[in-house]
Amino acid sequence: MPKAGIVTVVGKPNAGKSTLLNRLVGEKLSIVSPKPQSTRDRIVGIRTEGETQLILLDTPGLLNPRYPLQQAMRGAALAALYDADVILYLIDPAEGPPGDFLEVARLAERPRAPIVLAINKVDRLNSDAVDALRVAHPEAELISAATGAGVEGLLARIDALLPDSPFLYPDDEISTQTTRFFVSELIRETAFEQLEDEIPYSVACEIEEFRESQSPVYIRAVLHVERESQKRILIGARGQQIRAIGSAARQKAEALIGAPVYLDLRVKVLPNWRRSANALRRLGYQLPEDRSS
Ligand code: GDP
Ligand code: MG
Repeated sequence: MPKAGIVTVVGKPNAGKSTLLNRLVGEKLSIVSPKPQSTRDRIVGIRTEGETQLILLDTPGLLNPRYPLQQAMRGAALAALYDADVILYLIDPAEGPPGDFLEVARLAERPRAPIVLAINKVDRLNSDAVDALRVAHPEAELISAATGAGVEGLLARIDALLPDSPFLYPDDEISTQTTRFFVSELIRETAFEQLEDEIPYSVACEIEEFRESQSPVYIRAVLHVERESQKRILIGARGQQIRAIGSAARQKAEALIGAPVYLDLRVKVLPNWRRSANALRRLGYQLPEDRSS
């Protein structure tokens, strides 16, 4: 009987979630998924190996919801937690001992899924420190997302907790919807990589057109920023910045899709989108008040 289920990865920024997800799915996929319309849109990766399929979700913004964007992200993170079959709680031991999961995530109620604690980055520790961790946290899996050490053991532990179930997705399917989402995420990620500080938080990416049936695959995307000054920075002198972002993002999109891509990337000002409920909905975020329906 095959096994399949939802594995939701939780951890503070820099714990190594993205590194682990990339290792598990073996492809460069999305890091943060702010489009919580449905479970499907929150998927950051699918791992099908032998008789087991893991649907991997992430938990954007398990942080103080101060304005609408953060609220939307926290809502998505909570939904991913309560949908999970297994919760993977990832920590970096350099940040101190793992806090209690319910407290760290500020949850009123324990999710039904079992929580597997994984202590990451053990490649940075000497063997005495690793032994000490084993003694202090016998329940934890000690892993290195970077080198792969311990990851097989972690997978075996997760597999044992998954329900018997037919695969939830065809073996190698990544749907168009999901591809679109991944592409918007990797464009945004590329903008994050190439810009400094302040600005990236104000960048949202919208895919306006995605034609997969032609070669090269045609993608028209818009990076929305909040202010003219940010738009100038994103575009750069003589357009060099936006060209650099576009070229790096296109290469990542080609690796993801496995086909040549033509990326038409523009920058627009959408004033105060982070604080505007309408703009957030348009960009695919689900706000807490949408959830009751
Ligand atoms: P996220 O914010 O939780 O998604 O964390 P990332 O996956 O972006 O990782 C944060 C930083 O930790 C990056 O610089 C990674 O290269 C690094 N990192 C992640 N996993 C490991 C690991 O197992 N060992 C080491 N040495 N570094 C790691
Ligand atoms: Mg990350």
